Amino acid sequence: MIFSLEALILSKEKLGEIDLLIELFTPKGKIWSVAKGAQKSRKRFVNLLEEFNLIKAHLRKTAKGKLPILEKADLLFLPESIRKDYKKYLMISYMGEILSKISFSGLYIEYFSFIKKLFMEIEKGNLFFLLKPFFELKILKFSGWSPEFFQCVKCGYKPKKIFFLSIPEGGILCFRCKDGNSEKLDLEIVDILRSLIKMPVELESLKKLEKDLEKAIYIKEKILKISEKFLKYFLPFELNSLKFLKDFNWGVNEAKDS
Ligand SMILES: [Zn+2]
Repeated sequence: MIFSLEALILSKEKLGEIDLLIELFTPKGKIWSVAKGAQKSRKRFVNLLEEFNLIKAHLRKTAKGKLPILEKADLLFLPESIRKDYKKYLMISYMGEILSKISFSGLYIEYFSFIKKLFMEIEKGNLFFLLKPFFELKILKFSGWSPEFFQCVKCGYKPKKIFFLSIPEGGILCFRCKDGNSEKLDLEIVDILRSLIKMPVELESLKKLEKDLEKAIYIKEKILKISEKFLKYFLPFELNSLKFLKDFNWGVNEAKDS
């Protein structure tokens, strides 16, 4: 039985001498599939199986417990500028690595359309500094670890002016609930975190937010730090691509951190 679905190629690996193992991100979840003979014969999949291509995958179910076979792939979207622009490539690789490592809870179709739209926007647009925290906060949300920025995590009170942030508690605390692990946070920063977590994939809004923060380097760095810390705390896996982002001042410098 063949079934077809849209898929983003997350990774590929050699499987034995001739086959490729392809990791697909699809509206039905992540699927590992086997592209028979794809190492040797390039004809069937001419450059289709490159990372971050969006394809229509035609998969054949095999015996229970075995991986489906990728029979055919039609190209839907080829990310060209992502391959040419090193900075974009690094960001997409970072996103791809996270997608490959996390497990999602809930509706896959929603995450798929989010990621698809995001990748397409990145392909056609300029890259924004806030893209990284935007993506990280959304990923936390999708994996069931959404940080709480609207009310005190402990008592539910909605502070108006005075906020404390606790990463282990998963969000903001009010003055009464603050503890030794929390730090004071300005309303301005809380507001940006709130907009980022609510914002749909609409890079125009992201661009506007970034423009407003043009000179506020301290705030931008703070936002970057907070979202990365949340991600590392709740999704504690090694992220190899993060160190490359640091060369662009995109990652949090651990030494500067304390
Ligand atoms: Zn409280």
